[in-house]
Amino acid sequence: MAKETHSFQAEVSRLLDIVANSLYSNKEVFLRELISNASDACDKLRYQAITQPELTQDDPDFRINVVPTKEARTIAVIDNGIGMDRDDLVQNLGTIASSGTLKFVEQLQQSGDSDKASLIGQFGVGFYAAFVVADKVEVETRKAGESQGWRWISDGRGEFTIEETDAAPARGTRVRLHLKEGEDEFLEDQRIRRIVQTYSDHIAIPILLGERPDPSESDGEGNGPDQLNTASALWTRPKSEISQQQYTEFYHHVAHAMDEPWLRLHFKAEGKLEYTCLLFVPTQQPYNLFHPDRQHGVKLYVRRVFVTDQCEDLVPAYLRFLRGVVDSEDLPLNISREMLQHNPTVAKIRQTLVNRVLGELKKKADKEPEAYQTFWENFGAVLKEGLYEDQEHKDQLLDLARFRSSERDGLISLDDYVQTMKEGQQSIYIITGDDLDTLKKSPQLEGFKAKGVQVLLLADAIDDFWTWMVGEYQGYPIKSVTRGAAELDDIKSGKEDESSDSEEEKQDQPDDSQVGTLVAFLKTALEDEVKDVRSTQRLTDSACCLVADEGDMDIHLERMLRQHGQTVPTNKRILEINPKHPLIQRLAERASQGGQPAANGSGDPMTDAAWLLLDQARIVEGETPSDPSAFARRMSQLVAKGLAA
Ligand code: ADP
Repeated sequence: MAKETHSFQAEVSRLLDIVANSLYSNKEVFLRELISNASDACDKLRYQAITQPELTQDDPDFRINVVPTKEARTIAVIDNGIGMDRDDLVQNLGTIASSGTLKFVEQLQQSGDSDKASLIGQFGVGFYAAFVVADKVEVETRKAGESQGWRWISDGRGEFTIEETDAAPARGTRVRLHLKEGEDEFLEDQRIRRIVQTYSDHIAIPILLGERPDPSESDGEGNGPDQLNTASALWTRPKSEISQQQYTEFYHHVAHAMDEPWLRLHFKAEGKLEYTCLLFVPTQQPYNLFHPDRQHGVKLYVRRVFVTDQCEDLVPAYLRFLRGVVDSEDLPLNISREMLQHNPTVAKIRQTLVNRVLGELKKKADKEPEAYQTFWENFGAVLKEGLYEDQEHKDQLLDLARFRSSERDGLISLDDYVQTMKEGQQSIYIITGDDLDTLKKSPQLEGFKAKGVQVLLLADAIDDFWTWMVGEYQGYPIKSVTRGAAELDDIKSGKEDESSDSEEEKQDQPDDSQVGTLVAFLKTALEDEVKDVRSTQRLTDSACCLVADEGDMDIHLERMLRQHGQTVPTNKRILEINPKHPLIQRLAERASQGGQPAANGSGDPMTDAAWLLLDQARIVEGETPSDPSAFARRMSQLVAKGLAA
């Protein structure tokens, strides 16, 4: 077959540009990335060879060779792993497969230089890091079990070529980098040795420095390939023999990340089932945490053999920020993906793993509350999904949850909340919405603020669901302040100056009968639009607000479901008015002078005022007036009148 020329997918070209420029201060990572890929390739073949032993029969020992050639100024990383055929090359080294990664590249492009370096850091750029030090990269590869070898060549500037070759390794891949001017340090044995020992010691496959691909070919005089790493699976080594840096580098490898792990959990279970877990919680939020095609972060091994990184049952979705490995002694080696579903061994491992992780998080929360806040900012929204999905661990999760409150800065726990409840307070009050700033300004909070009652401000998408599912904490119902008649009257105020100002306020209040007349008027005028109208204590500054009837769906939840394309029956809301507000007082006086609402919702000033009240309550809720042009007309008329007077 003749040589074919392909263009990189546009995003790859962009990624290549960014990588070459932002990784410059940390160039040596290219070697770690290539060795990491080589090790993955060996892992994949080892697993495949369980069912197809003929694939590795000729050459059963896996290894990775790093081969510098001074004369040619090249460095090659060679593995005898799974290899690639033509289509694999086009797909793997020419495109970005996951749409999550595509989004990430877009994000990269829009960010400033310093952010780029840190974003790249989270992501781990893989193969493309080769172009940081090389101006030409050749990949010669032969897929295990196939006779045809392939050569891929690119200068990283938009195109690559693919052709057949006999020069590929008998099995596996040789990645040869033609170094850029000035990068000769990477040809020095000592430099290579140090890089491998720093970043890749944890790799479980021997990494050899030298020409001869097979260690058995050593000439007996110490001139054979030189093993650079310990080459035993890191998680099997005793904890005391693993350095902090080795743990970190292992984390970088399994997680394809470059941050420091925030938490590490390394334990061996011995009993009916035997398995080892080495798990990490990242410090930085992985870029695809909320993306539907995100990768599973915990790899399953069986007796040191990599089986899959897609065992969904091993870790619940609400712990999907975990990275690491689980190595089981009990599962059969040739277990298929299907057999892993609903597998009782996997289920038991998962059970222990969840308990251990939640226990460890609890310890961190108690001992290092500030560090825990960082974790919560990154992963709280994910962990809260467990409150909805995992009834069994509900109490542990409620203990771990942290919240913003209307009364305090920083994060509080539900326990903190309960301890500061006011006398007479029977419920835990919450408000849900799209963002904290809007929530803080919600009119529904006013009465609570006046009495010093805390309201939890919940701005994550999952909040509407778990609060509904969980329902209560320590016997106190969790209630949205946008729903139902708030029981504010029963709560004693925590504010000491309350008695003095309430006397003054009483003089301003219209008498109850006037407010009653206004309520009756509004009910008639807005009959088709609202479920009810009532006077409320929950407002202090605003004239009015909308609330959901007890038993009806919360306003924010209803909007959210609709945004997600669900059909939700429209619940009419209750309009609550503030009898202390000057506008309401004037309207109450006018209403008590008699008059009926005009038909068709327009005409007389009182009817217009009723509609304006309702529409402003809708706007504050983040909704639109039901008839925007009528709203504009009423508003203009009113302002014109006000200016004329
Ligand atoms: P990642 O390793 O994060 O998937 P890379 O860009 O490093 O991303 O590699 C892309 C893909 O190319 C890999 O997922 C793998 O399928 C393939 N690949 C890279 N290096 C090798 C190799 N040495 N042997 C076999 N396949 C490889």
